[in-house]
Amino acid sequence: MLPLDNPGGHMDAAECLWAQLTERGFALSAKGDVLYVNPGQALTADDYAAIRANKPDLLKLVRERGLEQTAPGSLAVEATSENPPGPDQCPNCYRPLDPIGCCWRCCNRRCNDCGGMTGSAFILLCMTCEYAAKQKGIL
Ligand SMILES: [Zn+2]
Ligand SMILES: [Zn+2]
Repeated sequence: MLPLDNPGGHMDAAECLWAQLTERGFALSAKGDVLYVNPGQALTADDYAAIRANKPDLLKLVRERGLEQTAPGSLAVEATSENPPGPDQCPNCYRPLDPIGCCWRCCNRRCNDCGGMTGSAFILLCMTCEYAAKQKGIL
């Protein structure tokens, strides 16, 4: 691709990522400043990280291409204050948490005590609550 209509050059990574994603059957859309990818369930952690790294440019492309309609099953790439995750959703990737409060995609888990995230799907309490429990002699 010749960079003639792209003097900044910084859109190349986003354009390239866009092309790769659409080739694999993904559709990008946006609502406000939240970028959505459909089908969200099919995204790998690497895709997710790449999309996140290029989010501002991808959002610009979505707007330029008039694709601001989100489809059902789309995954929000990032939570915002206007679009907070629900109690059953991972605050990082918006995937539904499993019945014990884990997001296996992010390998994170909702703290049994405070409802924050513990940093690992295998840790039941966040550091603060674990410390508090130790102080109280529970653990
Ligand atoms: Zn997650
Ligand atoms: Zn906690």
